Amino acid sequence: MRPTAVGFREAGARAVRDAALREAIRRVTDNLTARRVQVTSELPHFDALREQAKRIKEHTLAYLDRYLEQLEREVHSRGGRVHWARDVEEACAHVVRICRESGARLVAKSKSMVTEEVELNRALAAAGVQVVETDLGEFVVQISGDRPSHLIAPIIHRRREDVAQLFAHHLGTPPDADVTVLTAAARQHLRQAFLRADVGVTGANFLVAETGTVVLVENEGNARMVTSLPRVHVAVAGIEKIIPRLVDLAVFLPLLVRSATGQRLSAYVSLLTGPRRPGELDGPEAFHLVLVDNGRSRLLADPELREALQCVRCSACLNVCPVYERTGGHAYGSVYSGPIGAVVTPGLAGGAGLVDLPFASSLCGACREVCPLRIDIPRMLVALRARAARAPQARWERAVARMGARLLASPGAYRWASAAARVLEPLVRWLPVGPLRGWTRSRDLPRLSPRPFHRRGLR
Ligand code: SF4
Repeated sequence: MRPTAVGFREAGARAVRDAALREAIRRVTDNLTARRVQVTSELPHFDALREQAKRIKEHTLAYLDRYLEQLEREVHSRGGRVHWARDVEEACAHVVRICRESGARLVAKSKSMVTEEVELNRALAAAGVQVVETDLGEFVVQISGDRPSHLIAPIIHRRREDVAQLFAHHLGTPPDADVTVLTAAARQHLRQAFLRADVGVTGANFLVAETGTVVLVENEGNARMVTSLPRVHVAVAGIEKIIPRLVDLAVFLPLLVRSATGQRLSAYVSLLTGPRRPGELDGPEAFHLVLVDNGRSRLLADPELREALQCVRCSACLNVCPVYERTGGHAYGSVYSGPIGAVVTPGLAGGAGLVDLPFASSLCGACREVCPLRIDIPRMLVALRARAARAPQARWERAVARMGARLLASPGAYRWASAAARVLEPLVRWLPVGPLRGWTRSRDLPRLSPRPFHRRGLR
């Protein structure tokens, strides 16, 4: 996963000035959040499910090696093949090789964050294999040369009018076409990809160790087409996607679906176990599972950040995050955006992105509140900030930090400084145009109270 060249600070500052972007994001995230609140409150045992899911994930991560070996055995015993990928290069090389061996010229793909992470499309294109994204949002991302900006709603930042213009150019629909016309045109176009593709590539929402099953949760039905029509199915998944038993899905599916899209049930849940067996009417002739590490083992070995591997990518934390709501996902410079992205991106990259991303949070705790796994994202962000603070600082930064510490440790000095700040307030307000404007460029400077807090009880 290559973080973009522009850091969060700069990209975020640019994004917050884009009122149309903020409006588009707020509309979708507010809607998803309202639906999540509604459907989670309907389940009286929702919190009990959360506790249970947490325990299962903690247990699975503690014995991850054992469950991964079990998964490999089960996939093999059902006629599939498992390929281990230490990094981006190995993951892409496996898929390219499988495509070459099966003589593939066209790959139909369903939505998958890990294939975005390893930039699989770029590798396949370089190998001369054409790729068609078949999830509607990802299809729009692909034909516009864009990047996804949300874990489950990749074109959250785009308006219908933009998509209509895009489809007019690529699919010949009227430039003012409505959603029904646009969807029908995409369906018509993608149907050809399903029928002609030699290989279908998917991600995995869960991998069941007990049975070697890949579980896919979706609403459009394209993943089902991708896994049943092409001759070969390749599932690419991070090693943390594993759950021990089939019965554990009864815990995770309601949590994922209700937290992600605010539905009671998603339209399609596919449980895929190996290639087509004799007597079955559809399904691929060959099944391959590419298991991607790419920094996950490092994350697992990190006691402060290991919890991030429990994430089921539901996106509920993005939808309530005041920072994500104002900047959108592109500002994070990674396929994983929002609060969990601010942890996972530097975690997977071994520190790259450490400077900016852990500070892309108000630490309000809303992400932890809504997370179906109760992942303590603020705690991990603080840990990453502490690491960033331990990194070598400029001499002036160290001097300012030392001065601040002395000021806060001494009541007398603090009173003197706050009195001085009141006198100098007009100068402080000059910051937006002065050399320290970075402090105030994207936040309002509150007015100093005429009566300091610590003197309010002394009337
Ligand atoms: S951290 Fe929690 S809320 Fe955020 S995407 Fe992962 S599972 Fe969902």
